[in-house]
Amino acid sequence: MLRECNLSDISDGKMYGLNDMVKADSGGCAGCHKCCTNMAQSIVLDPYDVYMLKNRLGQSFQELLNNGYIELNMVDGLILPNIKMNGKNQCSFLNEEGRCSVHEARPGICRIFPLGRVYDGKGFSYFLQTDQCVRKNNAKIKVKKWIDTENVNDNQAFISKWHYFIKHVGEKNVFLRDSGRGESVNDVAMYVLNEFYVKSVEGQKEAADEVSNNNNKDGISQKTDNTGIYNALMCMIDRAYGSLETYG
Ligand code: SF4
Ligand code: SF4
Repeated sequence: MLRECNLSDISDGKMYGLNDMVKADSGGCAGCHKCCTNMAQSIVLDPYDVYMLKNRLGQSFQELLNNGYIELNMVDGLILPNIKMNGKNQCSFLNEEGRCSVHEARPGICRIFPLGRVYDGKGFSYFLQTDQCVRKNNAKIKVKKWIDTENVNDNQAFISKWHYFIKHVGEKNVFLRDSGRGESVNDVAMYVLNEFYVKSVEGQKEAADEVSNNNNKDGISQKTDNTGIYNALMCMIDRAYGSLETYG
């Protein structure tokens, strides 16, 4: 979710890269699950998050919705999925022991917490949300270790590309609305939802394999599955820029 705010009000004022040390290590959280509670609609999922959850649970996007794990909401002019809170206002993935039941496939926002991302027009840096974690005196840890993300450079490239894509779509939607073509806004929102979330995991894997096979033909070494998925998603974003031109 895009937020406009003064960083000095919510952080220590520093920007962090992957190799910087940051006071984020909550030491296993020791029974606390505050940041998995009362999160309303704020844990918005990107297509890689959803890919990971589909794989982890062996469920389609529709099944994740039907089973109450995720829900859809309007975000910045788009229809995007977010993690759904249950009747106790806890994340639907929090288990009886108060731990994350999808820890290895947890979404990016959860993975980096209490860090956030700040975008500079080209890429992004991390910042420390100083008022978010209830545990005081968190230990210093290298950002790369804290966010514990496989193929982290590919992940960062995808996160950045996705961010600027949805920003572009949001701006296009404002233009369409302001020029009296509001009906196209819904079409664009549905296109993004279907293209990046509803399409089957198998479809994404096939796209990834295609990229991987093409790389092999060019003599480039075989990359990991995750790299293939990131490549496929980034190709889909490139294609979507073109497809969006047909709307409005
Ligand atoms: S997905 Fe896991 S880490 Fe994220 S809010 Fe839910 S229980 Fe917490
Ligand atoms: S608020 Fe801090 S200590 Fe509590 S679960 Fe979240 S990260 Fe862990």
